[in-house]
Amino acid sequence: MSASTNSADVAPLTPSQTKQKYSFNKLQKRLRRNVGKAIADFGMIENNDKVMVCLSGGKDSYTMLDILMFLKKIAPIHFDIVAVNLDQKQPDFPEHILPEYLDELGVEYKIVEEDTYSIVKDKIPEGKTTCSLCSRLRRGILYRTAKELGATKIALGHHRDDMLETFFLNMFHGGKLKSMPPKLVSDNGEHIVIRPLAYCNEKDIVKYSQAVQFPIIPCNLCGSQENLQRQNVKAMLQDWDRRFPGRIESMFTALQNVAPSHLADKDLYDFKGIKTQDSPVDDGDIGFDPPSFNNSTATVNNDVHIVNIMEPK
Ligand code: SF4
Repeated sequence: MSASTNSADVAPLTPSQTKQKYSFNKLQKRLRRNVGKAIADFGMIENNDKVMVCLSGGKDSYTMLDILMFLKKIAPIHFDIVAVNLDQKQPDFPEHILPEYLDELGVEYKIVEEDTYSIVKDKIPEGKTTCSLCSRLRRGILYRTAKELGATKIALGHHRDDMLETFFLNMFHGGKLKSMPPKLVSDNGEHIVIRPLAYCNEKDIVKYSQAVQFPIIPCNLCGSQENLQRQNVKAMLQDWDRRFPGRIESMFTALQNVAPSHLADKDLYDFKGIKTQDSPVDDGDIGFDPPSFNNSTATVNNDVHIVNIMEPK
């Protein structure tokens, strides 16, 4: 018999390695399933699409690219992927990391070099927040790149928790019930922006990127502080998640389950045109009865969770 390697040569896994492998497989399956479901639910990717995957070098965009590449292999439709990173010329940006990673992956990619860092530093006085100009510049460059590459979709790595944070930020500071949608036309009207991680929670993404050991590029190279209001909302949501398990899931379900007749937007619902009818009305007004929430059932991504959303005394 030859001395070549076969399964007998491979050391068996220890119980703790087996357990780790099992939970990694479960995590990976869950993320893949959630991305696949979001793509299907919102019609994010269609046959022959060219998806421009925006890669920042952070955990979210690495995870998105990894999962989309897997889905491309098994999807019943054909689509192409091109990864794009914008090198904004921030000090100490490690330029070699992404090309090395993407070469190894064998995915088509483009690194766009534009010194938006100097423009922002030049235009914004010291101490003022730089993020809005920076994002505006970045957005314009990404739209232009999508056009040059012939991309039909622009994929961003925002996840469920980003969407909820944005929802609360808009409500607290913008007076609007508005989140970050899974799919929308871009503000210049020319592109379709998709968020394939819309059903994925941040905790899963953190665990996955640690397990896979993506070569993360730090996100504070520009020297700007993360938006304080966003940090506060994030802390509030994390605190709720710890104290009231299921609340985050219920809130995200609510984003997919809007009742315009039970809000107060007269442009969204014709309150003036309301008429009585002979039969009972589903979800009609229940007068003074308080709504009953105890042990209500919230459906989240096809899994049914029993959620007690009454706060403990
Ligand atoms: S944190 Fe820095 S790189 Fe990010 S949007 Fe703000 S200024 Fe731009």
